[in-house]
Amino acid sequence: MGKYIFVTGGVMSSLGKGIIASSIANLLLSAGYKIASIKVDPYLNSDAGTMNPYAHGEVFVTDDGYEADLDMGHYERFTGTLMSRDNNITTGQVYLSVINKEREGGYLGKCVQLVPHITDEIKRRLREVSEKKNADVSIVEIGGTVGDLEGLPFLEAIRQMKLDEPGNTMYIHIAYVPFLKHTNELKTKPLQHSVQELRRIGIQPDMIVCRSESDVGEDIKRKVSLFTSVPYNMVVSDPDAESVYEVPLKLDEQSIVDKISEVLHLDGRKPNTVRWKGFVDSMLKARKELDIYMIGKYTDDRDSYMSITEAIRHSATAVGARASLHWVESTHLEDGSVSIDSILDDNAGYVILPGFGKRGTEGKIAALRALRERGVPVLGICFGMQLMAIEIARNVAGMEGANSTELNPDTKYPVVDMLEEQKKVKKMGGTMRLGAQRATLVEGTATYNLYQSKEVYERHRHRYEINTEYVGALGDAGFIVGGYSDEGFPDFMELKGSRFYIGTQGHPEFKSRPLDPAPLFHSFMKAVSERNAVSEEGVRTVGSETR
Ligand code: GLN
Repeated sequence: MGKYIFVTGGVMSSLGKGIIASSIANLLLSAGYKIASIKVDPYLNSDAGTMNPYAHGEVFVTDDGYEADLDMGHYERFTGTLMSRDNNITTGQVYLSVINKEREGGYLGKCVQLVPHITDEIKRRLREVSEKKNADVSIVEIGGTVGDLEGLPFLEAIRQMKLDEPGNTMYIHIAYVPFLKHTNELKTKPLQHSVQELRRIGIQPDMIVCRSESDVGEDIKRKVSLFTSVPYNMVVSDPDAESVYEVPLKLDEQSIVDKISEVLHLDGRKPNTVRWKGFVDSMLKARKELDIYMIGKYTDDRDSYMSITEAIRHSATAVGARASLHWVESTHLEDGSVSIDSILDDNAGYVILPGFGKRGTEGKIAALRALRERGVPVLGICFGMQLMAIEIARNVAGMEGANSTELNPDTKYPVVDMLEEQKKVKKMGGTMRLGAQRATLVEGTATYNLYQSKEVYERHRHRYEINTEYVGALGDAGFIVGGYSDEGFPDFMELKGSRFYIGTQGHPEFKSRPLDPAPLFHSFMKAVSERNAVSEEGVRTVGSETR
């Protein structure tokens, strides 16, 4: 029977619970255990697909086309294991299935209640995933913070799991330990309160992870142990790290797998962190810095582009550099509060970020023109590629006012248009072109050369496509197709003869891994890196010119 680790968070959100859950999964996997990572989200949405990035950060897309919470991205990056729709359980899904079952007569004669019917459904789903993945250990992260009203049914369900399966469950509570500047000390009181809240529900944690700015040290650990009744050796420190990828190593230094083994009666296998450490070391020691401009409209909340940021980090490490990210809000380019000239840099690379809706698009299009004319490396992701096509249609192919029908339904030149099948769709949730899709690459193109493969599968999330009626005119203007979808739409487009000017309808960032960066990002970073050489004295040069 599979074992379960339940990860809860206390004091406040954004502590990096997902990173810790992923790091534990990473270490158990490297020790040779079969794992399943499960994210529980207490919101009522069925999935994260209909929330905007400001509400919920990035929507992570799985191979099977599920629109997930961004933590599922951490799970994939830290474990290399593919997630699917089963790995995410939301309140919305649970209630919907219980209500449907009630309508079908599944509870005839009964009053359907939170306990046991909702909690039974939660437990059923958890066990189903564990069995399906044949997991030795399932790591279940409970979204939100202990004390949230909406998380209660999940906490009740995981409390019952211990009763149902003694010896198979472990509770890890992660809580914030703030540093109070004026007294120069770390304070454990908020953590104590969050543990009291857990205990009130009937959960006594087996392990506490103290999230703090710096290492909490022995005294604080003793205090936490005393006030929470968690043995001293089960109190773990998780100080801020330079990179999230250091977290598995920091936890391994504290023998977290041995501690987990003890509670869950595992057979004591040890993690092997050699390769992971190799990646982290080269990431942290890289001194060459590459400037990457990120042009989008959700730039106030960097979580909106989490997987892209990570893909850039993976690729920067692969070229022996680190990326310095410059966020550009495209509405500022539009209203002139940031001038396009101020972001033009021959040494930099530019990513035109994905997006929906009109706001900021003219800013992106204006920037694209300048970048194309300047000949700097540009990578367009999804909406980014659509805007590349619009810019070239307008400014090279002479189609004044060319646009996407998403932005101007009456445009004379609908270079980007809604997919036919999408026009029939009435529902908004889960209905885009989603998940891994095959593209057949065109031999001889830059896209083909960088993938070194005829067929590639990248993940998608969009309703609009390059209108095939304009592919010929765009090609004549130099913007050629690098790869087609099975339905015959351009999935990759590139500017002929450019150093790197490639757009994709897909989201290659979702498949990027620390030790295996997404080819498109990797090649983009190579192009940026080639322009940047660090001389012996550490002075950045462009060709032979010193900058
Ligand atoms: N809004 C565009 C579409 O739906 C692009 C979406 C995206 O960038 N993911 O096609």
